[in-house]
Amino acid sequence: MIVILKQNPDANQLNRLISWLREKGIDVHETIGASQTILGLIGDTHHLDMDLITALDIVDDVRRVQEPYKNANRKFHPRDTVIKVGDTQIGGGNLTLIAGPCSVESEEQICAIAESVKKSGATMLRGGAFKPRTSPYSFQGLRGEGLRLLSMAKKLTGLPIVTEIMDISQLPLFDDVDVIQVGARNMQNFELLKALGQTHKPILLKRGSSCTYEELLMSAEYIMAGGNEQVILCERGIRTFENYTRNTLDVAAVPVLKQLSHLPVIIDPSHATGKSALVDSLSCAAVAAGADGLIIEVHNDPAHAMCDGPQSIRPEAFDALAKRLRIISDAVSAK
Ligand code: PEP
Ligand code: MN
Repeated sequence: MIVILKQNPDANQLNRLISWLREKGIDVHETIGASQTILGLIGDTHHLDMDLITALDIVDDVRRVQEPYKNANRKFHPRDTVIKVGDTQIGGGNLTLIAGPCSVESEEQICAIAESVKKSGATMLRGGAFKPRTSPYSFQGLRGEGLRLLSMAKKLTGLPIVTEIMDISQLPLFDDVDVIQVGARNMQNFELLKALGQTHKPILLKRGSSCTYEELLMSAEYIMAGGNEQVILCERGIRTFENYTRNTLDVAAVPVLKQLSHLPVIIDPSHATGKSALVDSLSCAAVAAGADGLIIEVHNDPAHAMCDGPQSIRPEAFDALAKRLRIISDAVSAK
C-alpha cells in the first residue's frame, strides 16, 4: 500500500501516522520528492482501514499496490535510484560503462585490459574470479587469487571493480570488491540474495535466462528487504527458440523494468549474443532504448581467452564503441 501525502504535511501529524503504522507491525518507507512525499507500507496491510487513512488532513490519496515487489516498485519510489560507486554514479542519466575480460587470467592480462578500458572511458572494471561454467572440466576461475589481481588492477587504475559471487561462503573475500555481481544462474539463489541484503555493497543482479521481469524484480526485492537498496538490474539475454545467438537480447527489458521499477537497468550485450561482431549494434540499441549502462566483455587476446573469447571485443573496438555510445547517450538524454 502507498500513502501519498499532501504538500508540506504537518510534521507532528506525519510522525503520529508513521508511529501508529509501525505499532501495527507495518514497515514504513518514506520517500520525499520535490512535489510529493510518499509512504510505502510493507507488511500485512489488509487489516488497515484505507478510508480512515485517506480521511487524515495530511493525506492526499491511498492506493493498494498489487505487485508482489514493493521496495523495488516505482510506485513506492517514483524517482530513479542513483547508486554511487567511488567517483561514479549509476542511474539518473549517467552512462555506466563496465568493461573487462570474462575471467581474470593473470596480473599482466587484467592490468593491461584495465588500463586500456580506463583510457577509453570505462567507469568500472569487470572480471570473473569465480566462474559459473556449464562444464566442470572448463576453467573455473582463479578464485581468491583472481580477486587479489582485480584489487591490483583497481589500485593501478582507480577503476572500481565488479565481480561475481557464487556462494555465501565467498563473501568474506569480497571486502575490496565495489559491486558484487549475482550471475544469471544464481538469480534465484534466495539464501545468497538474503545474505547480500545484509551487506552495504551495490549488487549487480543479472536476469536468469528463463526468468520473467517479475521474477527478476522479486529477486531484487529479496536483497532490498534485507536493507540493501543498492541493486542494479541487468538484462543479459534470455533463452528462446533462436539458437544462432547464445541467447536473445530482450531490449524491451529496458523500458519495461524502468517503468516497473526505480532501479538502474544495464545491458550485457556479450552474454546476450555470444558473438563479438554483434556487441556494437546491440550496445547502441541498449543505450538508445534508455539503458543506464552496459557491461561488456573486453579482452586483449580474444583468440586465447580462457573463457568467452568469441564474444569478447578488443580494447580498440571498445574505444570506438565508447565514443559512439556517448553520442547516443547525449542524444537520448536531450529528448
Ligand atoms: C559473466 O558475467 O561472466 C557471466 C557468467 O554472466 P551470466 O551470469 O549473465 O551468464
Ligand atoms: Mn563471460
